[in-house]
Amino acid sequence: MKKIIRNGTIVTASETYQADLLISDGVISSIGKSIEVEGAEVVDATDRYVFPGGIDPHTHLEMPFGGTVTKDDFETGTIAAAFGGTTSIIDFCLTEKGKPLSEAIKTWHDKSKDKSVIDYSFHLMISEINDKVLDQLPDVINQEGITSFKVFMAYKNVFQADDETLYRTLLAAKEHGALVMVHAENGDVIEYLTKEALAKGQTEPIYHALTRPPEVEGEATGRAAQLTGLASSQLYVVHVSCKEAADKIAEARKKGYDIHGETCPQYLVLDQSYLEKPNFEGAKYVWSPPLREKWNQEALWNALRTGQLETIGSDQCSFDFSGQKDLGRDDFTKIPNGGPMIEDRFSILFSEGVRKGRISLNQFVDITSTKSAKLFGLFPKKGTISIGADADLVIFNPETKRKISADTHHMAVDYNAFEGMEVTGEPETVLVRGDFVIKNKQFVGTPGSGQYLKRAKYGKTTNLADKPMMIQ
Ligand SMILES: [Zn+2]
Repeated sequence: MKKIIRNGTIVTASETYQADLLISDGVISSIGKSIEVEGAEVVDATDRYVFPGGIDPHTHLEMPFGGTVTKDDFETGTIAAAFGGTTSIIDFCLTEKGKPLSEAIKTWHDKSKDKSVIDYSFHLMISEINDKVLDQLPDVINQEGITSFKVFMAYKNVFQADDETLYRTLLAAKEHGALVMVHAENGDVIEYLTKEALAKGQTEPIYHALTRPPEVEGEATGRAAQLTGLASSQLYVVHVSCKEAADKIAEARKKGYDIHGETCPQYLVLDQSYLEKPNFEGAKYVWSPPLREKWNQEALWNALRTGQLETIGSDQCSFDFSGQKDLGRDDFTKIPNGGPMIEDRFSILFSEGVRKGRISLNQFVDITSTKSAKLFGLFPKKGTISIGADADLVIFNPETKRKISADTHHMAVDYNAFEGMEVTGEPETVLVRGDFVIKNKQFVGTPGSGQYLKRAKYGKTTNLADKPMMIQ
């Protein structure tokens, strides 16, 4: 059925204007003034922004970690994402050394296919590089449409890859047209600092932050940047948490290196003192990299405003406080790392960023959607509002005030890291390929309706729908 989004203020990464949108067969088929089509369902968007659906390039749904599994799966996680204005996610597919990559990818397809209510894709973790792995990469890219690889420089003896693996992944990515993503923290030094802390009996959550100081993130970011320059390749640094790391990215970009950086809402509004909350509540804020001293927040906002950091991922990786975070009550190294962030990414960036004058409305769209679509091979099918693009849309009321709380959120987890925070602006209606997933703040979607997205190679664009379009 055709739909008309009537009288909204359409906002893209470059423009803001008032118009109607016509949706036919899941794509935007016309943009114009006073569109009339017989039989079309009309959705009033007066006094609302109409944004391209958010793209969250960094989630961990139903992911095993530290002897447990993240609480939100592809159903609860994507429902929460949709409430928060996100219409596509890219989740991390973990691999095991010595096992075929196709096996890991199949596991992730099985987890997601009947559950996701929004569109989704995968990044592939690279844990080792040898001829066998290299031989499989063309299929991963061309058959699966997975055009980004993740390398962990931290989590020694778990996920951590050595520098040779990182360097050879950068070379392979260059050759085949993929983007390398790094978790940039020096895992060897963290391992040593952690042992030292535990030997001194320092077991509380705050020591999670103190054993992963900003220097180890800055060092690893700088190292990854230099190796990218040496390989003439391309790099995306996930979850930049501090000035040290943001500066390394800016420095490398100045040299002309093809390097991109992401931060997350938690680093923009929460700080290290949260890990000192009494009664083990600090464990709710244990993730890596850790929260930093508060002054870093302004440095991260500045980096977003000036384009040195370009995207915002949630790093959704949720564990219950009771029953999961608990595992580390006597030893901070046993606290599962991660937090529930998928739902509030959009609202926090709008409220703290746009409403407080730190970024413009068009930058907001670029950071939450367009830039990720471009970097990860989804543009212009996703990430913008234009004729022929998928009708992934968020109808957003910029004036609603609400308090973030675990009592009202839609994630499966038993706490919210932003509990009590007041935000202005809220997604009211969310469409994925023209179908309502959220309608007037009610979930109306269907698990399994989300489609797997095969992505274009790095630097390439996707084809638009091959359907007749009207230009009015
Ligand atoms: Zn992550």
